[in-house]
Amino acid sequence: MGLALQQARAAMQQGEVPVGAVVVCDGQVVAVGHNCPVGGHDPSAHAEMQALRAAAQALGNYRLPDCELYVTLEPCVMCAGAIMHARIKRVVYGAADPKTGACGSVVDLFAEPRLNHHAVVVGGVMRDACVGILQTFFSERRAAAKARRLSPAAGAADEAAGESSVPPSESSN
Ligand SMILES: [Zn+2]
Repeated sequence: MGLALQQARAAMQQGEVPVGAVVVCDGQVVAVGHNCPVGGHDPSAHAEMQALRAAAQALGNYRLPDCELYVTLEPCVMCAGAIMHARIKRVVYGAADPKTGACGSVVDLFAEPRLNHHAVVVGGVMRDACVGILQTFFSERRAAAKARRLSPAAGAADEAAGESSVPPSESSN
């Protein structure tokens, strides 16, 4: 999870919502990924998707049944679907996401008996650090938005920073 947090920091340095992911197979890191939908012009570019794609390429197989996914934020519906398609055996996440979490916060797809794959899911690992980096990102962004409101001419060009599909997890605090 420490490595996933490093990936989250890399996302933040690029102005993306700080979420990072790591795929581990037999105790070895096979892939990492960080959230980059804004810069990548790609709504599917969540950290988990990036890490799953890289892991599948690295292992030469779209099925990853011996792999575990570590991610700093509870996976959304899209990522939970990809995790199931990849047959990931275990998912470990840090912060819960009360707005889009698909591991129990909004829905629990991994507990849905009609879906045919059930990864083991563990939440709350290094939760404070995972929540903290999101809170830092959103408080800095709010401060920047406030500064722009106070000085509209100065900040117009910064609007391109845009909104992310991943909301803050502050209510999980
Ligand atoms: Zn996602």
